[in-house]
Amino acid sequence: MNSGDIAVLIGNPVTHSLSPIFQQAAFDHMNINVRYEAWQTHANELKQKIDLLRSSKYIGANITIPYKLDAMSFVDNIDDIGQQVGAINTIVSRDGNLTGTNTDVEGIQNSFKMANVDLKNKSVILFGAGGAARAVIVAMKNAGVKAITVINRTEDKAKHFESFSSSNFKVSILSAHLSIKFHSALFTDADIIINATSLGMYKGGNELISPVSREFLNNSQVIFDLVYTPEETPLLKMAESLGAQCIGGLAMLIFQGAASFRLWTDKNPPVEVMFHAVKKELSHRLHN
Ligand code: NAP
Repeated sequence: MNSGDIAVLIGNPVTHSLSPIFQQAAFDHMNINVRYEAWQTHANELKQKIDLLRSSKYIGANITIPYKLDAMSFVDNIDDIGQQVGAINTIVSRDGNLTGTNTDVEGIQNSFKMANVDLKNKSVILFGAGGAARAVIVAMKNAGVKAITVINRTEDKAKHFESFSSSNFKVSILSAHLSIKFHSALFTDADIIINATSLGMYKGGNELISPVSREFLNNSQVIFDLVYTPEETPLLKMAESLGAQCIGGLAMLIFQGAASFRLWTDKNPPVEVMFHAVKKELSHRLHN
């Protein structure tokens, strides 16, 4: 790295992203002279913007919605995790060469580690089959989960998740419309329930909705909601009131960004500083 280097966020929209806040806080805290820029990018500019990263002043990029898949076509290599997920959220630029990877997987695994939850041999129910859910299923498989049931509003979109199945990782796809009785037994046996849909997200149009109703939750489950605005989603509120262990999406956001930071700089990210910067920003946004 050189003095005056740049890291960027490529997506659309990028205006309200928290990445510039906590990445810049991390660079500043470590006295690394890197500026983190948010690049609002239209689809027809994606290749050109990624190509710019080949210049020596760029250390890399975060890729966000809606380009995590499309960006794969414009890098030189994709590492194993990026290949497994089939989407990239980070590009590392070295000597004009661009490598794509997916740090959401590490972000998810570290969220469970921080909460002292061992994933080995656990049974998981996953709501959602979009880009984030793909990172979840790879994270679960690589951490030794024994079985996962994927439930998605559009069942067809969940179908391709069956390809993650292996002899010691059983993947089942379940219709979101099955009878309550059937669901009930499944949930009683589940150790971990994960929401990777946008239900519960602030200003998402469904902010008051949980993907699962109260009768399916109990205090022996761990509930992980990827949604981080609000920090306490309807699902987490319900689970907490029942005494279940809850993990919010903010941890994943920070840990995936921290993993990108480490790849760009080869230095240990100041995770506490990143958490603090995001919490401060969210509190500021809430009161303004
Ligand atoms: P995506 O690819 O657009 O997928 C959205 C998912 O939500 C799909 O499974 C979709 O189901 C489901 N969904 C949307 N509206 C629904 C509704 N009204 N009822 C039932 N299901 C509905 O988005 P994504 O990138 O996977 O992101 C999903 C969520 O994870 C977002 O809230 C995002 O903020 C969050 N996320 C968090 C982090 C983090 O760092 N914490 C990182 C990435 C994403 P269909 O297939 O039926 O449309």
